[in-house]
Amino acid sequence: FSRVVTIDGPAGTGKSSVSRQLARRLDGDYLDTGAMYRTATLAVLRAGVSPDDAQAVESVVASVEIDVCTDNDGQTVAMLDGEDVSAEIRENDVTRSVSAVSAVGAVRDKLVARQRELAAGHLIVAEGRDVGTVVFPGAAAKIYLTATPAARAQRRHRQDQRAGRDSDYATVLADVERRDHLDSTRAISPLRPAEDAVTVDTSDMTIDEVIDRLESLVRK
Ligand code: C5P
Repeated sequence: FSRVVTIDGPAGTGKSSVSRQLARRLDGDYLDTGAMYRTATLAVLRAGVSPDDAQAVESVVASVEIDVCTDNDGQTVAMLDGEDVSAEIRENDVTRSVSAVSAVGAVRDKLVARQRELAAGHLIVAEGRDVGTVVFPGAAAKIYLTATPAARAQRRHRQDQRAGRDSDYATVLADVERRDHLDSTRAISPLRPAEDAVTVDTSDMTIDEVIDRLESLVRK
């Protein structure tokens, strides 16, 4: 038995907060697949390897153990070889390099296999870029969140400020647009809505409104 709800979309649509809280309402688990790509990227940076060197990236990622789980608040805990790296994977240098690392086929193969294992046996809300299209094509419900780049950059910028990270709006907007482009034009598993996904534009919605809307869609 396994029942999966997938939530895909670009950065800054509110995906993480929404997925985490929807999982709680449905009494399921939350799976943050982006955290796994971020953890792989941290491993690459620590190894001193260029994120653009696909062969070297592949061998670094093959040699490490990457796992995610949630803490008591439902927040993602990311583990690299048993070390908690949850804070480090949100830093700017990881964010800058993650699209290059996640474009490597062998990296995706390894992480997708792990994501399917983690989903076995219970209800999960999985969040990412390809969870509805590639990882869980048979999901019970599929959502695609969108929002204007400006709305998304604003959300990310506020998140950074709350977390005490260095951040200015123009840089965040440029990063959001750059990652949108890289993630949606890559050859393997590009960011796009699944054919059977319901698209929700969150530009003018609060997080609570988005969660209510998704809960009603999922329970239908
Ligand atoms: O969701 P988050 O912004 O943490 O994702 C970071 C990056 O990980 C994305 O920009 C994308 O390059 C990659 N990613 C992916 N496939 C997923 C989830 C994330 O390629 N399912």
